[in-house]
Amino acid sequence: MTTAQLHIGQTIRFDGNPTADGISAAIHDSRGALLVESGRISELGDADALHRANPQAQVIDHGDGIIVPGFVDAHVHYPQTAIVASWGKRLIDWLNDYTFPEEMRLADESYANEIAGRYLDLVLSNGTTTVCSYATIHPESVNAFFNAANTRGMRVAAGKTCMDRNAPEGLTDTAQSAYDDSKALLQRWHGTGRLDYVITPRFSPTSTPEQLEALGALWAEHPECLMQTHLSEQTDEIAWVRSLFPDARDYLDTYEAFGLLGKRGLYGHAIHLEQRERDRLRETGAALVHCPTSNTFIGSGLFDMDGLLREGQRIGLATDTGGGSSFSMLRTMAAAYEIGQLRGRALHASELLWLGTSGSAAALHMQGKIGNLAKGLEADFNVLDLAATPALAQRTQRADDIWEAIFATIMLGDDRTIKETWVGGQKAGATS
Ligand SMILES: [Zn+2]
Repeated sequence: MTTAQLHIGQTIRFDGNPTADGISAAIHDSRGALLVESGRISELGDADALHRANPQAQVIDHGDGIIVPGFVDAHVHYPQTAIVASWGKRLIDWLNDYTFPEEMRLADESYANEIAGRYLDLVLSNGTTTVCSYATIHPESVNAFFNAANTRGMRVAAGKTCMDRNAPEGLTDTAQSAYDDSKALLQRWHGTGRLDYVITPRFSPTSTPEQLEALGALWAEHPECLMQTHLSEQTDEIAWVRSLFPDARDYLDTYEAFGLLGKRGLYGHAIHLEQRERDRLRETGAALVHCPTSNTFIGSGLFDMDGLLREGQRIGLATDTGGGSSFSMLRTMAAAYEIGQLRGRALHASELLWLGTSGSAAALHMQGKIGNLAKGLEADFNVLDLAATPALAQRTQRADDIWEAIFATIMLGDDRTIKETWVGGQKAGATS
């Protein structure tokens, strides 16, 4: 049995959902502690009381560091790591000019291994402990990603991206091979260690009705899996979907008609939604995944955070690497704040932090495992340094309370703010 660790520092945890229950649902303890045993949080509370009750525990004192849950990124494309921040395109041209040529390269297993490892190290250095990723059409790209996550002890979700039309030769499968390959990968990986398989049609324009139907059938056979896709990102994309599916009531209907709408469904972007789509997403309890740096970077539009929260939609937050322009969930929270401002809602720091941790974990149906500091959860957390840079240090010093300091840290912070990241009770990057 491993020695229990007592992590002491300032702690921030959630007793509820600040976007619905108010900001008092976020709890700051200026001298809190977590007791970590066998990779899980076994107790949390006042540092001195926990120390007295557990004198045998190894004390790890983080000083003024702020212990927060590990960040959860609910929508990424790890194969696009090397093309992040590519200039000047809108969605369809961006896919054709940057994404598809790069995704082609992941047919080479050694390249897929290299990119998967590089990607996960980049996100860990930014404090992200869980991601939900698209792979490429190649089964090897899924194996590469899961092996790399396993090596690092990370809880991740991912799936083979399925496309059987409107993509270049070499980057397409068929309805049958998408079903067969996805099923084989699901059976191999789903529930192994901390890994979840996600059924992954890229989006309606690159799947025939037959492929959508086959993947809907696979989801019906495996309702325990997540399903991820894209929805209503850009207006010209929506017009294209309408021309490809003339009988569909709207974009969401191109999924709904084939059994690809459900509670464990993740719909990336969801910007330009019709009322019927909003109603159906809410009724089914599906998750909308907001990708703010991507939406401004590719010029897609402004997510209606305020209206969708008021409707009671389930919302996660994500970078959308590499359409998104950053690997950092701090930068992503900052962009969510900026877009919220443009749509009339100034998200509080506690709401931003919740969206990037517990909110995304709930979108991934992992709230019983990660996304918060709570007894029984897996010990994935960050220690933030609120004085990591001169700009941040002077701003934190001026802050009247913890939330003012956290907000400034979200707006000004980057990977330098992430002092330490712990994954399943192990320090990330530590050589042991
Ligand atoms: Zn995406």
